[in-house]
Amino acid sequence: MTAYEYETHEYDVVVVGAGGAGLRATLGMAEQGLRTACVTKVFPTRSHTVAAQGGIAASLSNMGPDHWQWHMYDTVKGSDWLGDTDAMEYLAREAPKAVYELEHYGVPFSRTEEGKIYQRPFGGHTTEFGDGPPVQRTCAAADRTGHAILHTLYGQSLKNNAEFYIEYFAIDLLMSDDGRCTGVVCWKLDDGTMHVFNAKMVVLATGGYGRAYFSATSAHTCTGDGGGMVARAGLPLQDMEFVQFHPTGIYGSGCLITEGARGEGGYLTNSEGERFMERYAPNYKDLAPRDYVSRSMTLEIREGRGVGAESDHIHLNLSHLPKEALAERLPGISESAKIFAGVDVTKEPIPVLPTVHYNMGGIPTNYWGEVLNPSKDDQNAVVPGLMAVGEAGCASVHGANRLGSNSLIDLVVFGRAAAIRAGKVVDPESAIPETNTASVDKAFDRFDSLRNAKGTVPTAELRLEMQKTMQADAAVFRTAKTMKDGLEKMGAIAAKLDDLHVTDRSLVWNSDLMETLELTNLMPNALATIAGAEARKESRGAHAHEDHGERDDTNWRVHTIARVDGAETQLSYRPVLTDPLTTEKEGGIAVTKIAPKERTF
Ligand SMILES: Cc1cc2nc3c(=O)[nH]c(=O)nc-3n(C[C@H](O)[C@H](O)[C@H](O)COP(=O)(O)OP(=O)(O)OC[C@H]3O[C@@H](n4cnc5c(N)ncnc54)[C@H](O)[C@@H]3O)c2cc1C
Repeated sequence: MTAYEYETHEYDVVVVGAGGAGLRATLGMAEQGLRTACVTKVFPTRSHTVAAQGGIAASLSNMGPDHWQWHMYDTVKGSDWLGDTDAMEYLAREAPKAVYELEHYGVPFSRTEEGKIYQRPFGGHTTEFGDGPPVQRTCAAADRTGHAILHTLYGQSLKNNAEFYIEYFAIDLLMSDDGRCTGVVCWKLDDGTMHVFNAKMVVLATGGYGRAYFSATSAHTCTGDGGGMVARAGLPLQDMEFVQFHPTGIYGSGCLITEGARGEGGYLTNSEGERFMERYAPNYKDLAPRDYVSRSMTLEIREGRGVGAESDHIHLNLSHLPKEALAERLPGISESAKIFAGVDVTKEPIPVLPTVHYNMGGIPTNYWGEVLNPSKDDQNAVVPGLMAVGEAGCASVHGANRLGSNSLIDLVVFGRAAAIRAGKVVDPESAIPETNTASVDKAFDRFDSLRNAKGTVPTAELRLEMQKTMQADAAVFRTAKTMKDGLEKMGAIAAKLDDLHVTDRSLVWNSDLMETLELTNLMPNALATIAGAEARKESRGAHAHEDHGERDDTNWRVHTIARVDGAETQLSYRPVLTDPLTTEKEGGIAVTKIAPKERTF
C-alpha cells in the first residue's frame, strides 16, 4: 500500500468535466440547491467544447418550416438505426427548450433580420421525414458556437454557487463492494496535493477519446479519461467501434473546417474539378451525412482523383461565396485556413481530408444519464451513484453515426436531464458516503506505480504506436484483415503499459505523469474500439466493413458492450431500444415512420 496524504471533500454531486455537458449538468444541479463541485483538468473555458464551430441543432423553425419529429427522424436515420429510440425522441423534443434556455442564460447567438436566432443547414438535417429539401436547423453564434455556450454556462454556474476545482486531475472512481459509486480521487496538478471527493452522485463529463488516433480534430486533452476510469471499475463501454471521421479536417494539421462551411454553400471538388458529391448523393450532395461524405472522398482519392502532388486529398471551395458572408458567418475558419493551410479562402480552395472527429460510443446510459451495467437478467441495470453525459456517454442518440450539430444539443439536453434526475434521486438530507479507504488505496497504488515506472518504453513512444495502429487499422474503410491485424497489434501495444518509463517523479506540474495517466485511459478506449470493430460483421454508419458491405438488421441491430481488463476485451451485446417515449396517439412519431430502411441521400 502506498501512503499519500489527502484532503477530503464532501458534496451531494461531483461533476468531472467542465465542457458543455459538465457545465450544463453542474448548473442544473446547483440551481436546485444541491451542493455541487465541478472538477476539471483544464480551465473550464479551455475544454474541447470551446472549439465547436458550426452550431447546435433544434427545430425552432426560424428560417422555414421544421418539426421536432423531422429532427427525430433525421437522427434515427443518421444513426443508421442503432440509436435508442426513447433517447432520440427525448433529444429532438427537448432541443428547442434547451436552446431557448441557453438564449436566456445569455448565449450571444447570431440573429436573423427579425432578431430571431440564426439557423444554418447542416448535413443530414432535412424536412418531411427525409422527403423534403434540407432544413435550416443548426443554431449558430457565427462559427464560434461552442465558445459562446461554454463562457455563458461557466458564468451561470458561478452565479449559482457551484464550486470549481480547476486543474484537478481525476484519477479513479471510488466504488463500494456492492457496486455503488461513492466518489472520485483527484490529483491537483499545480501543487501536487491529493484530494478525495465523497459524493452521493458522480457525473462523468470527460469528453471523447479522439487522441487514440494519429490525426484528430479534437484537443490533446480528449483522452477518454471517463471511459478509462469506468473500465478499471469493471464497468463496460458501448458501441466503441463507431468513430466519426469529419470530411473536412485541414490536410496535414487535422484542424477542423466546420460543416457549416458547406452549410453556407461551400462544396468539395476532386482533381478534375468535379463536384463529385453530386454523383454519390444526388439529393443532398455536399450536405449528406459525414460517414457518407468521408467515404465518398476516400473513394475519389483511391481511384486516383485526389488533389495535390501526391493526389492524397480533396479541395473544399468557398471562394465563390460573397466576402461579407465569409466575414460574418465563417470568420474563424477563414483564419484557420490562413494559419494552418496558408490559404486565402476568398481566392483559393482549402486542402482537406477525412479526420477523426467524434466518438459515437462511450459509457452506456439511459436517457437520464444514469450509467448502465447490463447483465443477462437486466439489460438496463443502473449503477447507483454514477452518471455520464456528453461525448463520454452513450445514451445512445448518435448510434452508428452522429449528425453535425447534434452533439452540442446532446450536451445541453442530457446535461440538463442528468440534473433533473439527480433532483429526484439525490436526497440533500441524506448522509454523504464515508471515505472508501480500500478504493482510495487502490487508486494511489496505481498512481504511484506509474509515477515510479522504470521500464523501457517512454509514454510518448507507446502513445504514437497506438495512434498509428488505430489510424491504419480502424480507419474510414475496414477489412477483416486490417481489423484482425489491428486487434493483435493493439493487444501487444496495451501489454507494453507494464513496461512504461516515466522520467519525472515530482508531483507538481508533472506533464510526463499526467500524459501517462491519460495513456492508460486512452488504451482501454482504443482496445474496445478495435475489438468491437473486428467482431461486427456488417457495415453500419461509420463502420464500413469491406468484406461485409451491407447493414444486417437481423443479426447486428444490437449495441456492442465491451469490458476491458488489462489488454483483454470481452464483448457481449445488448438490444437496441426501439420503442419511442410516446405513441402516435399521445402526439409522438408513428413507428412506421422510423422503421429501418435503406439509407440513401
Ligand atoms: C473542432 C471541433 C468542432 C466541433 N464542432 C461541433 C459543432 O459545431 N456542433 C456540434 O454539435 N458538435 C461539434 N463538435 C463535437 C462537440 O464539440 C463535442 O462532442 C463536445 O464539445 C464534447 O463536450 P463534452 O462536454 O462532452 O466534453 P469536452 O468539451 O471535451 O470537455 C471535457 C471536460 O472533461 C474534463 N476532464 C477530462 N478528463 C478529466 C480528468 N481525468 N480529470 C478532470 N477533468 C477531466 C476536461 O477538463 C474538460 O473540462 C466539435 C468537436 C470538435 C473537436
